[in-house]
Amino acid sequence: MAKIDKKSNKAIFTNEEYAKTWENCPIIQNRDRKDFRLCYICKYPMEFKLNENNSEDESAWVIDLINTKKPVLEIQNYIGVHANCVKNRTKRDATKLIKRIKMVGWMAPE
Ligand SMILES: [Zn+2]
Repeated sequence: MAKIDKKSNKAIFTNEEYAKTWENCPIIQNRDRKDFRLCYICKYPMEFKLNENNSEDESAWVIDLINTKKPVLEIQNYIGVHANCVKNRTKRDATKLIKRIKMVGWMAPE
């Protein structure tokens, strides 16, 4: 279960939460789903090993809440996105948007 850091007011997630959140992210048909998933905001790949716990890289991914109207800290409400993309989200409740994006067969350029 995520903890809130009282100083920065940011949620701190466990490695297990990163691994489970990864399973919520849209897959890319021509990439290994263990290593690459789609960022639903910019539609570019994210790489599993580059999460903000392990990497300072600007393409690192973070855990964001799918529905910020109901900010529950539960796996079902977690989605991985690039750290830089969080500010570009358009909907406070992205549940339907993410469902629609998952129905598309995404392919990464070779
Ligand atoms: Zn992105």
